[in-house]
Amino acid sequence: MKDTCPGCQAKINAKNIKKKGLYVEKQCPLCLVWFSLNTTLAFIKMLGISLLLVTSLLNLSGTKSEYSLLFSSLGAVGIIVALLITFFGKNEIVKNSKK
Ligand SMILES: [Zn+2]
Repeated sequence: MKDTCPGCQAKINAKNIKKKGLYVEKQCPLCLVWFSLNTTLAFIKMLGISLLLVTSLLNLSGTKSEYSLLFSSLGAVGIIVALLITFFGKNEIVKNSKK
């Protein structure tokens, strides 16, 4: 998987990227700018993954079967949203990156 640097538009191989922080800030090896996924998108992605986890747990804990299909569907939607954001989410330059 490759990331596009928002600073110089270079395609960067994930192996060459330095990472840090909660929202996984990344550094472009070419122009040394720090960037990360748009925070709104990062939040929605986290929400989607949580949805999958919660609904899976509810299904495992033996919830009434009439709900299990609903939970599975919700979980599937959550992971699809998370995947879409992972692949199509835009990176943004991190301003005033401290530490
Ligand atoms: Zn760059």
